[in-house]
Amino acid sequence: MALLEVEDLRVAYGKIEAVKGISFSVERGQVVTLIGTNGAGKTTTLRTLSGLLTPVGGRITFDGEQLVGRDAHKIVADGLAHSPEGRRIFPRLTIEENLQLGAFLRKDSDAVARDIRHAYELFPILGERRGQAAGTLSGGEQQMLAMGRALMSRPQLLMLDEPSMGLSPIMMQRIMETIGELKAQGTTILLVEQNAQAALSLADHGHVMEIGRITLSGTGDELLHDPSVRKAYLGED
Ligand code: ATP
Repeated sequence: MALLEVEDLRVAYGKIEAVKGISFSVERGQVVTLIGTNGAGKTTTLRTLSGLLTPVGGRITFDGEQLVGRDAHKIVADGLAHSPEGRRIFPRLTIEENLQLGAFLRKDSDAVARDIRHAYELFPILGERRGQAAGTLSGGEQQMLAMGRALMSRPQLLMLDEPSMGLSPIMMQRIMETIGELKAQGTTILLVEQNAQAALSLADHGHVMEIGRITLSGTGDELLHDPSVRKAYLGED
């Protein structure tokens, strides 16, 4: 059985239906990406999976359990972590305090300390700055912290919303490499990205979203070589 199964999911803001019946699944150990232009409904989908929005229809099955109607913090405890768009770190807290907050549901303090060390291995700059206020980090460093914090709940599924947004090409490459490292370590990832080239290169499967619907699905490689994807998302004529 897939770790995550989304069936005919529909989400609305008042009368506006932002997600119009999408279905996809994520197998354990896979990286699955949702690509598509602004307003396609990608962020809405992730926020619904996290329990922050209630769908008007459809089913979400995670690790064999129904998620719809469950509290957001219960969903984190169930193993689904979300690194949101725009990072949302706590700027006045230190880097280490931000990481500790990611583990707020855990009682195993020795393992938490080990995972903080692991976050510093993945992102050495966070270790060097551990006592510094997180608001003083650059955009890319804050993105690293947001990812590190999401990992601190030891998720079964890590959802990343636009991790490359607003980053320099070098920082973007660094973030994408880290996602590749996490994948190699067996982390299951649902990745929302505007940077289709980078996302599809990493992904086992991808889905193209357009105004609330999935219009095309395939392996990362298939989509990377699909003429319509190349034209619409990779800037080719
Ligand atoms: P982006 O990459 O720009 O974040 P997206 O694919 O993630 O795009 P969503 O943010 O999910 O798209 O938005 C889907 C649609 O829902 C858009 O038309 C957006 O304007 C609308 N929408 C999003 N949030 C709200 C809200 N809080 N209230 C009303 N409409 C919203």
